[in-house]
Amino acid sequence: MSNSANSGPGGKKPQAASTSNFIRQIVEADLATGRHAKILTRFPPEPNGYLHFGHAKSICLNFGLAAQYRGACNLRFDDTNPEKEEQAYVDSIIDSVRWLGYEYGAAPRYASDYFDFMYRAAEHLIEHGHAYVDSQSAEQMRANRGTLTEPGHASPHRDRSPAENLTLFREMRDGRHADGAHVLRARIDMASPNINLRDPAIYRIRRATHHRTGDKWCIYPMYTFAHPIEDAVERVTHSICTLEFEDQRPFYDWLLARLADGGVIERPVPQQIEFARLNLTYVVLSKRKLIQLVEEAHVEGWDDPRMPTLAGARRRGYTAEGFRRFAERVGVSKANSVIEFAILEDAMREHLNEVAPRRMGVLDPLKLVIDNYPQGGEELLEQPNHPQKPELGRRPVPFSGELWIEREDYQEIPEKGFFRLYPGNSVRLRFGYVIECTGMRDGVVHCNYHPDSRSGTPGADAYKVKGNLHWVSARHAHAAEVRLYDRLFRVANPDGVADLNPDSRRIVRAQLEPALGEALPGETFQFERHGYFVRDPKDAGFNRTVSMRDSWTPRNAG
Ligand code: ATP
Ligand code: MG
Repeated sequence: MSNSANSGPGGKKPQAASTSNFIRQIVEADLATGRHAKILTRFPPEPNGYLHFGHAKSICLNFGLAAQYRGACNLRFDDTNPEKEEQAYVDSIIDSVRWLGYEYGAAPRYASDYFDFMYRAAEHLIEHGHAYVDSQSAEQMRANRGTLTEPGHASPHRDRSPAENLTLFREMRDGRHADGAHVLRARIDMASPNINLRDPAIYRIRRATHHRTGDKWCIYPMYTFAHPIEDAVERVTHSICTLEFEDQRPFYDWLLARLADGGVIERPVPQQIEFARLNLTYVVLSKRKLIQLVEEAHVEGWDDPRMPTLAGARRRGYTAEGFRRFAERVGVSKANSVIEFAILEDAMREHLNEVAPRRMGVLDPLKLVIDNYPQGGEELLEQPNHPQKPELGRRPVPFSGELWIEREDYQEIPEKGFFRLYPGNSVRLRFGYVIECTGMRDGVVHCNYHPDSRSGTPGADAYKVKGNLHWVSARHAHAAEVRLYDRLFRVANPDGVADLNPDSRRIVRAQLEPALGEALPGETFQFERHGYFVRDPKDAGFNRTVSMRDSWTPRNAG
């Protein structure tokens, strides 16, 4: 990958190899002109759900920029909506950000910590004629907002004096008015072609208990008012958000300019930059739709390994490094698109191939008996943990005269091109002996072995066979439940639960080499020929993360 555009001062390369993009160019220009000596970004989740793969892109982008340009990134909970937020979500979000490998300074921030500041900012706007209390009903307000082609109509309350507005706003704060009786609105332009500038609401009365401020407030700021102020208070330099907020940018700028003019916040004010959100085939990335999957029990909770949540990803065996590579690969752009799920899987596969130790596991066990092997005998066969990484060491794998092999590795009457076991054919048992099949009796495959064919011993190469089978000694095997996952949805662009893939999980009773009995929760492996697996962090089973290569073909293709 070329990264000449990213060469920092003195030609020193930034931390990670990376290609340039429009956000990196903005940051580099701001550093070059001295507009900012150091950048500060933020990741601002609303604590009303678990983080999904889309959030991972935003996290990698914001924290990645901070790391690349030696700035910082805040984790800030956007908890301005008291009704839908919960501590459990806060905890899981912190957990997921840490899991992705990012640091956010001493502690996470909370928008609710700035409620006093926001309130004062609102009073400042009122005092300077930039905000007024409107007492129209919600319906009247909607009717008067106008349409895309027609301007709005001014509220009869639009010209209230600052003193009257201040009195009313304080009464709202003090609980003297019912929910919905009044709202505070910015006073901008009812004829603006951008509807977001037609005097947007900035504070509403809402008697609700907040997860952090309790019952201190009965008025709450609107998101569009709160967010720019949160950014400004923290001295964020680049406020990166998804494209839906593009039409809000004029209000973001309007508000911060008014507050900076009045000395309420400092300059330079944060700059909002929009990028296209991540969309992925075969999953849904919307909290609302994810909540439905959980509440209607289509999956087993937020951390079900099929869920496109970061909690699910961990149980699936996806890695933080895989997400970072994926984010770098898909980049950022201004145009909405849908990314193939296979690109995410490739990133995971690529990373796991580098780090996952190799193991043998039989997922569909068939018994194989070596008739000429010493009765009751056993021996240890050495196997490398990784073919390209001798530093990962070797391990002894017990071998005996009774083994489990894969059911699909035996055919009574071989089809054309089948090189594995069938009566009269010879194959090598991986890192072991060459065996010759004599047939199947009572559901057990029988064979004889060549004692002088053991891998790695002199003369072993004299045996030329085409098949090489993985196996597990029956007496030593670790039996375990293995979950084989497939796409959660059966169509590329799922709408909702009607598109769920009914076969997204298959559970098998596998026979694994004994070393896997000691696997730690969360440890990942390659099961030779079968793909990458993780020991489930929550139980003793193993979950397939991803198969060896992309073999998925939609069943409804064509
Ligand atoms: P959803 O649309 O799933 O409900 P949200 O945008 O409401 O998500 P927030 O908690 O507000 O969720 O999001 C926190 C941050 O993550 C925001 O900055 C948002 O822009 C970003 N984000 C959310 N979804 C995506 C996505 N699909 N791709 C990239 N960034 C995203
Ligand atoms: Mg949101």
